[in-house]
Parts: sequence; C-alpha cells; structure tokens
Amino acid sequence: MKTPAPFNAICSADYLPREKRAELQLARLQKIVAHEYANVPLYRERMDAQGVKPEDIKTLADIAKLPFMMKTDLRDTYPFGLFASPMEDIVRIHASSGTTGKRIILGYTQRDVDIWSECVARGLANAGVTKGDKIHVAYGYGLFTGGLGLHDGAQKLGATVIPASGGNTEQQINLLRDLGANIIACTPSYFVHLIDKAEKMGVDLKALPLRAGFFGAEPWTEEMRTYIEEHAGIEAFDIYGLTEISGPGVGLDCSAHQGIHIYEEYFYPEIIDTETLQPVPDGVEGELVFTTLCKYGAPMIRYRTRDISRIIPEVCPCGRTLRRIDRIRRRSDDMIIFHGVNIFPSQVEAALLQVDSSLPHYRIQLDSGASGLDVMTIEIEIRPEMVSDRIEDMEALRRKFASALDTILNIHAVVKLMPPNTLPRSEGKAKRVFDNRKSQLPK
Ligand code: ADP
Ligand code: ZN
Repeated sequence: MKTPAPFNAICSADYLPREKRAELQLARLQKIVAHEYANVPLYRERMDAQGVKPEDIKTLADIAKLPFMMKTDLRDTYPFGLFASPMEDIVRIHASSGTTGKRIILGYTQRDVDIWSECVARGLANAGVTKGDKIHVAYGYGLFTGGLGLHDGAQKLGATVIPASGGNTEQQINLLRDLGANIIACTPSYFVHLIDKAEKMGVDLKALPLRAGFFGAEPWTEEMRTYIEEHAGIEAFDIYGLTEISGPGVGLDCSAHQGIHIYEEYFYPEIIDTETLQPVPDGVEGELVFTTLCKYGAPMIRYRTRDISRIIPEVCPCGRTLRRIDRIRRRSDDMIIFHGVNIFPSQVEAALLQVDSSLPHYRIQLDSGASGLDVMTIEIEIRPEMVSDRIEDMEALRRKFASALDTILNIHAVVKLMPPNTLPRSEGKAKRVFDNRKSQLPK
C-alpha cells in the first residue's frame, strides 16, 4: 500500500485512555439529556411517560433508562420539531429522504459542524491526508451530507478540495487525471463504476497519484475492497455515518481494516436486541443505537439506526482506544440503499399509485450491473384492462410509471411491465424487494 504511517495532532483523542473517555462521555451525556429535556417537547413527554428525569443519569449504564428515538419522530415533527437550539444558532440544514418522499430535516450549530468535520478529518488522517494533498470529493453536494461532510473534513486538515460532486463520470476521470488528486471520496458502487469507465477511456488509475479512497453511505464488502484496491492501486477505507447523527464520519476504519472505529466521545454507541430492545454485551450482534453527546442543533438520544452490527470487544492492533463496530452488512427495516440514496418501498408505491390508483403488484429487483454499478429494476404487473395490442400504448404506460418513479425517487430505475397475473402473490407480508447485489450479501 502507498499510505504513509499517519500521525496528526487532530487524532490524539483517538488514543485517550478508556476511563478518561468514559468520564467525558458521562459528563456530556448528562448535559445533552438535560438540554433535550428542556428544549424538545416530544422527548420531554417521552421521558416523563417513562418516569425518568435528567438527574437520574448518574452512570453511563443509566442511558438504558432513557427512551429511544426513531426516524418516524423526525418525520412526525417535520421540519424543525426536534431542533433543540434557536434557529438563529442553526448554521446549516441537511436532509435525508424518508418514507413517502417526505424528507427528514436536521439542523447544525457551528459547533456541531466543527465537531463533524473534526471527525471526518480524524478519519482522513488515517490515510496521512495533510496540506498539499488533493482530495476529489465525488459524493453529492447539497442536502445530502456526503459532499459537504467530506469537504469540511478535508479542508480542516489543510488539504486542497476538488468538489466534483456526483455524476458526469467522464469528467470525473478527466479531473482525476489532470488535477492529480491523491485521495478520492465517493460511494463504493460509484467508484467501481469509475474504475470501469477509466478502463474504457484508456486511463490507468494505478498510474495516477491517487493513493487512498474513502467509501461509504451504503453497505459494501471485503470482496469489493479487494477489487477496488487491486484495480485502482489505492487503499480503501470504510466511512460510516448517517444524517441523523451528523453525516459521514460517525466512524471510520483505520489501516488495520478490521472494523470501524466510532468517535465515541461524540457519538455514544449501543447495540440492542431488536426483539427485547435491551442493550446486549459487546461482541453480540444487534441494532446500532447512537446518542449524540455534543450535538446541540438537533440532538439524537438513543437513536435507533436500524443498522445491524456488533461492537468488537478486542483492542485494535492500531492502538486506538476507540471501540470498533463490524462493517454494516444489513438493516433491520426495508430501507434500500441504492447509489447511496435511501429508498423505502412505500415511496415506490406512492409513485405507482399516481399512475394507477388501484396499486399494481410490483417487485423491486436490485442487481450488480455489468459495470459494477447497481441497477434497480421495478417490475410492474398490469391489469387485464390495461393490456393493449399497440406497442405504442404499452410504451406510453411504461413511461408514465417511469416518470412518476423518477420524480418521487430522484433516481433512475429500469421499469418493466409484466403481463397480468405473472408476479407471485405471497401470503402474509408481501416480499417486494429482491436484493441480488454482490455488495449486499447477507451474513
Ligand atoms: P449519509 O449521508 O451518511 O449517507 P444517510 O442518512 O443518507 O446518511 O444514510 C445513512 C445510512 O446509510 C446508514 O444508516 C447506513 O444504513 C448506510 N451507510 C452509511 N455508511 C455506510 C457504510 N460505510 N457501510 C454500510 N452502510 C452505510
Ligand atoms: Zn484501528
């Protein structure tokens, strides 16, 4: 690997003795819970209903007394109901898509943004990113946290940012070749696409100064890491995060690549049993829950991510004292992550209903395309009265569905019309999503 051994003062918190970090965590937890209780009616009512007061948090284990928060809370209080700081202190808004197309909105104070970018910077420092390095950010810029998250973190280290954003793959390759970026950040599936495109354009990525990549926003595998490292001659890091907790940089793997270190003094992780909702010991798999210990714009207390992982109990060979979680391989809900965008089947339903109010039977197929880029195919079964002998009519109907889906999902899906009564019916809960992607192999 071409990565130099990193050390950067910004990383010193990665090596804090565990007891010292626990002291910090407790003090911060007590403060944020009191702040949330005072400022967010939804959470205050929930704590009252559970008979818990901020003063009841005397040890870190007392966190288990607190109620959970969920994505539905953000939707139900859309847009600003979970903000815990006055709007004049909010310097940034980000969003992530929710069911039925309604976004969830998060607000950040200046300190929230600073902490977020500090975490991204600490992660980038794993690849020795420093002044003089050029980082090509091909995550989308905008409400999505990927672009600006990586941007701020890289700038904090004094690196030169190339804010390429997503799309226009040919131009991305030209920029990589002409500007000589050392580091790239994008979704793993997009990078696989870049590898393919570069090959077609006759650009040898291995011959470029590119030495490391930060890939996240969607599940990927060790096989994909090997593929990327071999085909681009870079070291591939896994960057994990979610908008509710801040964005990318809640955790990052180090050069040992044996799990994702969580920036625990800011984002307190728990793993809970999805049935009993009780915390499980380190090492046991369950749903990842986070409490944002220092985020004051829109704090999240015991936020249920739906991501399934486990805390790795062993100390990492890299010497960091930050605990690690296993790579996220699956989720406990039906959310699909496609090209880094969160999609729920209910959004697909909303689009289909616009065209046919009786809601046709449908199936969502997810495949790894020939170029490595994921492909979403939506099979829609039409009713007998919709069938026409004229190909033009059928094509017009297909386009109608496709355009409703494009508008609501904001992504491109292949739409296939299926003859009446051809899709299997299921008894009980309908299985709508068939994830055949290599990067989504279940455990
Ligand atoms: P972000 O802006 O960080 O992508 P979103 O809120 O759009 O955040 O999506 C967050 C979800 O994306 C996470 O809950 C998780 O399911 C998935 N995700 C993010 N990073 C990774 C990663 N490195 N590996 C696996 N899944 C990830
Ligand atoms: Zn490590």
